Amino acid sequence: MGPVRVLELYSGIGGMHQALRESCISAEVVAAVDVNTVANEVYKHNFPSTPLWAKTIEGITLAELNRLSFDMILMSPPCQPFTRIGLQGDVSDPRTNSFLYILDILPRLQRLPKYILLENVKGFETSSARDKLVETLKKCGFKYQEFLLSPTYILENFPDQEPKASVKHRVAAGLEKESSFTSPEEEHIEPNSGSDAGSGQRSQKEAFVFKLETAKEMERKRNQDSDLSIQMLKDFLEEDGEEMSQYFLPPKALLRYAFLLDIVTPSCRRSTCFTKGYGHYVEGTGSVLQTAEDVQLESVFKSIEMLSEEEKLMKLSTLKLRYFTPREIENLYGFPPEFGFPDKITMKQRYRLLGNSLNVHVVAKLISLLTG
Ligand code: SAH
Repeated sequence: MGPVRVLELYSGIGGMHQALRESCISAEVVAAVDVNTVANEVYKHNFPSTPLWAKTIEGITLAELNRLSFDMILMSPPCQPFTRIGLQGDVSDPRTNSFLYILDILPRLQRLPKYILLENVKGFETSSARDKLVETLKKCGFKYQEFLLSPTYILENFPDQEPKASVKHRVAAGLEKESSFTSPEEEHIEPNSGSDAGSGQRSQKEAFVFKLETAKEMERKRNQDSDLSIQMLKDFLEEDGEEMSQYFLPPKALLRYAFLLDIVTPSCRRSTCFTKGYGHYVEGTGSVLQTAEDVQLESVFKSIEMLSEEEKLMKLSTLKLRYFTPREIENLYGFPPEFGFPDKITMKQRYRLLGNSLNVHVVAKLISLLTG
């Protein structure tokens, strides 16, 4: 038996490909498909020998797919139709069309793939797109399993849960990417709307302690930060240097968004998700880093409302808040040091592409589980 022949759909910057590598199974990506030209540049840069089809998935014919003769599909369909903040258009959202096309074509393939892995956001599991997927999988005789995962959870607790893949080794998995808060059309900000585990809806009655945070939220964050089994953020940070100055929050952003920011320090063990608009303050929702570690957050925010803008700014500046750099987000997502972006890809584009991507370690585990 030769290497597993993999079809990577919605390949983006190649998070799935990277995870496949990490899973150490003998495999070859026989085709990667994506329409986004910027994402494709990054994909080519990192996986130069993989055939990359810069076209729409709906544009691929049944004959072309049959010719590829693949054993595995890895795919991350667009998540906007399913995000909590998006309009939740589900199957009526035109961005779901290509996925419906795949479901339509799957039963008609000359030879069914042995494995399918699908990744999406929380919200997908209750969608009709998911129901249609399950229906199709059943029709084709697949055994499937679904997971709602958070990166910290899976890395700590996942390995023992071997599904018994006795039924033809066919398993499909759905998985939550910890990133589901911005849709490109919206500039919507929720106070501390991190999608990190457990942050449910806030009850109206709960009082803010400071900085629009309730005692319950603060408690949850404190608990996560004291879980010694989880690595600290400092392990993922870049060296301080001159180039870092570009990542500090501009005064305008500080004044406008200070109360909405999820602020973490290098010794924290949690962060909120980094979404597409991250690093671009108008949409910013991911955590920002407090580099002045000894400054007490509470002392900065207590009674800050009374102050003039200038005084406010003075106080907020003492925190030395900066965005995580794209490389740091890559580190957090488990992309190896050799992964990179071509120089011409702008900062905004990098954040945007990373916001669409996934946690490599999590998906690598899932691939091992699927094929193990
Ligand atoms: N897993 C990828 C990201 C997936 S995001 C990564 O690691 O980067 C979804 C991707 O699907 C986007 O890159 C988008 O350009 C692509 N896409 C959306 N609709 C598509 C279609 N109809 N045909 C091909 N690609 C599409």
